Parts: sequence; C-alpha cells; structure tokens
Amino acid sequence: MAFNLPDLPYPYDALEPYIDARTMEIHHTRHHAGYVNKLNAAIQGTELEQLSIEELLGKVSQLPAAVRNNGGGHWNHSLFWKIMSPKGGGEPVGKIADAINQHFGSFSNFREIFTQAALNRFGSGWAWLIVRPDGSLHVCSTPNQDNPLMDVVPEEDRGTPILGIDVWEHAYYLKYQWRRNEYVEAWWNVVNWQYVDELYQKATTQ
Ligand code: MN
Repeated sequence: MAFNLPDLPYPYDALEPYIDARTMEIHHTRHHAGYVNKLNAAIQGTELEQLSIEELLGKVSQLPAAVRNNGGGHWNHSLFWKIMSPKGGGEPVGKIADAINQHFGSFSNFREIFTQAALNRFGSGWAWLIVRPDGSLHVCSTPNQDNPLMDVVPEEDRGTPILGIDVWEHAYYLKYQWRRNEYVEAWWNVVNWQYVDELYQKATTQ
C-alpha cells in the first residue's frame, strides 16, 4: 500500500509570525511530498509494500538508502506538523509536565538542553525528545532524516519520539536565513504540549 501525504492540521499561515506561510507551504507540498513520492517509488513492487512505516524504520539497516532517507523524511514530517499548533507554546501540560520536571529538574533546564541539541546538530537533521524503552525521557539529535525509531541509531538514542524539531535549512531559511537560533527560539511558541502529552502517555502505557 502506498503512503500518502497527510494534510496539515491548520492553514499554512497559522503559525505566523513564528513560522511563515511560504516556508510551511513549500515544506509540506515540496519537501514532505517529495519524501512520500520517493518512498513509494523505492518500495513499489517489492515485499516492503506490506510493511508499516514503523516496521520499515525499525530495520532500515537492511534496506536501501532511499527507504532510510525518504521513509525517515515521511515519518519525521508527519510528526512535526502535529506537534505544532497555532494554540501552542507556553509550558508543558499533563503527565509530560511532571515527567520533564522529574527527569530534567525544570522545564527551563529541559528547554536549554533541547535547544542545544538543535543548535549543535551540524548540517541537516533533527533534535528529539524520546521515551526510551524503560520509560525514561532522553534528548538526542540525529543527522539527515534519521530518527530514534531506526536500528541505525546508537542504542542510547533509540526510543519513541514525542517531540522533534526540524533543523534542515529548508525549515527556516526564508525567514531566518543563517539564524537557526532565532528559529529554534520562535518554535517554542508553537509547540503543541497537549499533543506531546498524548504521545507521552501512549508511549508509557504500551
Ligand atoms: Mn523538513
């Protein structure tokens, strides 16, 4: 079964002024759509068509690079659109709020650690907050379109992503140019903590 480009849960201009409409539109209709199309082309007519995206990512070490790059691109962006919202920002809510305080001491400390992971990623990639198999929280970063569901990622960085930021230049260059730090700073204003809390609860009750 072919994978599909999901709709955004809000209009392209909904995250203004933090993320501009043109960036959102190109990011969704060109970049994400491109990953979906290339992923479908890479698995078409093979037994890989039977697998879910998570199943593919879990064994990418054995699969063609096109599946790793475009499968990761599809999964990562599908999460990214949903962990942002025009009603986002502020502080975490629900169980994830307690868990962040417990694991990182405070929200501001977590925010600093996550921000540094995003800023220190050299070149293109992502920073993540994940739930590890033992239920603990962990901040990490992956290059390109890799993610913590992949079997190519170091063991300590493997788990279920519940928050992620795209630090490819295509995510911010039109508005912020080289100023990745300003993009990351602005992005906190659109984080959908309610959805992150849902993902946290799902990941910890599996
Ligand atoms: Mn992207």
